[in-house]
Amino acid sequence: MRQKMVAGNWKMNGTTNGVHELIRGIKAGFNGSSAEAVVCPPFVYLPFVAAEIAGSAIKLSAQNMCDQDVGAFTGEISGPMLKDIGCEYVILAHSERRAMYGETDEVAASKYAAALKNNLIPIFCIGETLEEREQDITEAVIARQIDAIVDAEGVASLANAVLAYEPVWAIGTGKTATPDQAQSVHAFIRNKIAGLDGGIAESLRILYGGSMNPANAAELIAQPDIDGGLIGGASLKADDFLAIINAAG
Ligand code: PEP
Repeated sequence: MRQKMVAGNWKMNGTTNGVHELIRGIKAGFNGSSAEAVVCPPFVYLPFVAAEIAGSAIKLSAQNMCDQDVGAFTGEISGPMLKDIGCEYVILAHSERRAMYGETDEVAASKYAAALKNNLIPIFCIGETLEEREQDITEAVIARQIDAIVDAEGVASLANAVLAYEPVWAIGTGKTATPDQAQSVHAFIRNKIAGLDGGIAESLRILYGGSMNPANAAELIAQPDIDGGLIGGASLKADDFLAIINAAG
């Protein structure tokens, strides 16, 4: 039985006051859930949020990391640093990083390897653009993105990872994939992995991301191959984020 998971990707939002208010609101309203709750603040607020959630069941994730552990990499943040300040998870290969910061499949795979080496659980994002969906190559794109990490690190590595299917056309647009559309891609992902290792496929958590909100979360998460959500916009409001966690568990 896969534990559901809801992760809030705060992206580059918040200042000290706003972050204080948000994490305190989430903590105050979080009264336990069978779903795992994860918050992903910007790097600079990770230590503060780590202190705020200490002793609660809420887990901490970064939004990105360097593929190198230490050295002359100005402006980068390493896996050992994230472990040091209490991260359990790290979002990798988010479509915003792929599209705006030139993260290729190769870079994504290198970061994935570095996360695993440092005992961080990657929340590894995959998903097609609108053009790719219209060209009917969604499955080919998803397969290529998965192959990039499986070819490099082996299918067994997915035992220590979470995948997030995030159709790029649904991110931040208010245009959610329908439960059927999302389930169909999630089933494709699980079947593809089952072709390599049935046990890994069965236990792998695959989150949906793309304009998930309190109104659509329950129906999406009820789909057989959707194991929770990676939430952007709706994770910036404590009440909305809590409602999605409650919808999941
Ligand atoms: C995201 O960026 O991971 C995301 C799912 O964003 P939103 O929920 O705002 O679409």
